[in-house]
Amino acid sequence: MSLFPLLDPLLPLVKAPAQYIGGEMNSVVKDHAKVAVKVALAFPDTYKIGMSHLGLQILYGLVNREPDMLAERVFAPWSDMEARMRGAGVPLFSLETKTPVRAFDILGFSLQYELSFTNVINMLDLAGIPLRSADRGPDDPLIIAGGSCTFQPEPIAVFLDICVLGDGEERLMELAKAVAELKGKFRSRRDYCRELVKRVPNLYAPNLYDVEYAMDGRLASITPNCDEAPLFVQRASVSNFETSFFPTHPIVPAVECVHERINLEVMRGCPHACRFCQAGMIKLPVRARSVETLVKYALETYHATGYDEIALTSLSTADYPHLEELMARLKQEFDGKKVGISLPSLRVNERIRSIPGILNTIRKAGFTMAPEAGTERMRKVIHKLIKDDDLYAAATAAYREGWDVIKVYYMIGLPHEEDADIDATCEAILKTSRCARESTNRDGELNVTVSPFVPKAHTPFQWEPMASPERFKDIRTRMHNRIRSKKIHLKVHDPERAYVEGVVSRGDRRLAPMLVEAVKSGCTFDAWDECFSYKRWLDIFARCGIDQAKHNFRERPDDEVFAWDHLDGGPPKRTLLRSRVKAETLAEAYTA
Ligand code: SF4
Repeated sequence: MSLFPLLDPLLPLVKAPAQYIGGEMNSVVKDHAKVAVKVALAFPDTYKIGMSHLGLQILYGLVNREPDMLAERVFAPWSDMEARMRGAGVPLFSLETKTPVRAFDILGFSLQYELSFTNVINMLDLAGIPLRSADRGPDDPLIIAGGSCTFQPEPIAVFLDICVLGDGEERLMELAKAVAELKGKFRSRRDYCRELVKRVPNLYAPNLYDVEYAMDGRLASITPNCDEAPLFVQRASVSNFETSFFPTHPIVPAVECVHERINLEVMRGCPHACRFCQAGMIKLPVRARSVETLVKYALETYHATGYDEIALTSLSTADYPHLEELMARLKQEFDGKKVGISLPSLRVNERIRSIPGILNTIRKAGFTMAPEAGTERMRKVIHKLIKDDDLYAAATAAYREGWDVIKVYYMIGLPHEEDADIDATCEAILKTSRCARESTNRDGELNVTVSPFVPKAHTPFQWEPMASPERFKDIRTRMHNRIRSKKIHLKVHDPERAYVEGVVSRGDRRLAPMLVEAVKSGCTFDAWDECFSYKRWLDIFARCGIDQAKHNFRERPDDEVFAWDHLDGGPPKRTLLRSRVKAETLAEAYTA
C-alpha cells in the first residue's frame, strides 16, 4: 500500500522535499508480494546524515541481493514534514515504495549516537507502532537495532525487541531468514524473541532480562529471565572481512549530503585502545582488506556512481598497513579521472609525516589530525601515545604541500587533566599553526575543534566523572585568552550537550519514561544546534526526577554494576579497570 497519494500534496509545503521521494540512482524497488521478508532500514536522523552512513548502504545491498528479501530506507522526517504528516494522518513510510513502516516484517534502527534515541521513539510513534516491546503483537514489525549504541542500549531497551551486537552483516541475514519463517506465529513478543535468540547468535533481547536495583538506587543486576537468553551476550565479528560484502553500487543521494563520495572501508577496528574511546574497544579485532580488493571495489563503485572522491575510511587509517601501496595503486588506476583521495581524521604517528606528500600527488582534500591532548603526561593518561615531533612534521609537510588550512581535534575535561595540560595544548595549537612559516613565512590557517570528554561504556574511563561546568568555563576562558591568532579558528564546544549525552550514555532502563517525556516536549534532532535546547532538557530532568549530578559528576566505585556488564564490548571489565588504575598511576608519576 503506497502512501504517495497522501504524501504528494505535502511535498511542496516542506523544505528539501527531494529527501522524501526516493528513486535515486542504484536504489532498489521490489514487489512486496514476491518476497518472504521485508526489512525497513531506519536511520534516526535526516536523509542528509543517514545517506552518508556506510553501514546503511552495506545492509541495504546485502538484503536486496537476496531474491526473496527486500530492504527499503526510512529516515527521520524534519520537523516541518513531521508536522504535515501528523496533520494529514500520514504514518512513517519507506522511501522506495512509500509503504507504511509498520507493514514491514523488520524495522531496523542504526544507533550511532545517544542523542538520537529520542528520534527512535518519535519515529516509532509516527509509525503507529506500540512504543514498548511488551505491548507489540504478532502483526507489528520486529524492532531491531544495530550500531555502536547497542553496546549500551539500556535507556531505550524497553522500546527495542532485539539488538544485534557487533558486525551486522551476517547476523542480520540470519535474523531475516528466521523472521521469514517465524513471523506472525507468536502472539507474545517475548516468545517470538526467545525463539529468535535461540536460533541466531549475538542477539540481545532486552525483554528477556530482569533488572534489579539496590536500596541506594544503584543498579544491582541484569539477569536473563529465560533459558534461551545468554548470561553474557557475545558480539559478532564478520568471519572474513576481506571477502565480506562491500556495496559497490551504493545509492547516490538525490539531495546534498554530508558525504558524497566512495567510502572505501580499508580496515575495521583500531590497534590503539585509547582509554576514552569506545569505538576502539567495541570494534576489535583489527582487520584490514588487501590492496587488490580495495582497488577493485573503488573501480566498481566509481563506475556505478561517478563519484569524484574516494575516502579511505576506518577508525585509524594512518595505521592501515598498506597505505602507501594503496595510494600508489589508486593514483595509477584513477590517473586522468579527476578523482580525489581523502583521509578521515588521522592518528598522529611517524608515518603521518609523509601522508601530505602522498595525498598531494592526486588531489587535495581536507587534512585532519587528532592529537586529543597537548602534553605527554595527558597522552599517557589517555593512552594516545603520539609524539609532538610527528605532529609538527606532518603539519609542516601539509602546509608545504599546499594545504591552505588544516584541522586538529582536542579534548578537554579529561580525567586527571590540570591547568598546565591546557596551557600546553594551547602552545601545541600555536606551534602547529607556526609550522607553515617554513614554507610561507606566515602562520598557517588552523581549524581547531575542542570537545568535552564524555565517559563511555566499555572503556577504562567508564568509572570517571565528567568535569564540572565551572571547570569547562575556566578551560574555555583559558584557551581563548592564550590563543589570539587570527589564523587559528578555535571552536570550544559547550558542555551542555555533552552533559545530556553523559546522562544517556551511562543511564539504565529507568531513563525510558524521561526519554518519552523528552519527545513529547519536542526534544528531537538534538545533535543539531538549531534543535538542541539545554533549558528544555533541564526542565525534563527536573520533571522526571533525574539528578544530573548523580549521572555525570559521580565517580563510580570499582565494584559498580553497570547497565552494560552483560554485553560483550571488547576487553573484559577487569582489564578495563586495570587500565584505569594505570592511568591514575601515570597521572601521578608525571607532572604536566
Ligand atoms: S586511535 Fe582513534 S579510533 Fe583508535 S582507539 Fe584511539 S581514538 Fe579510538
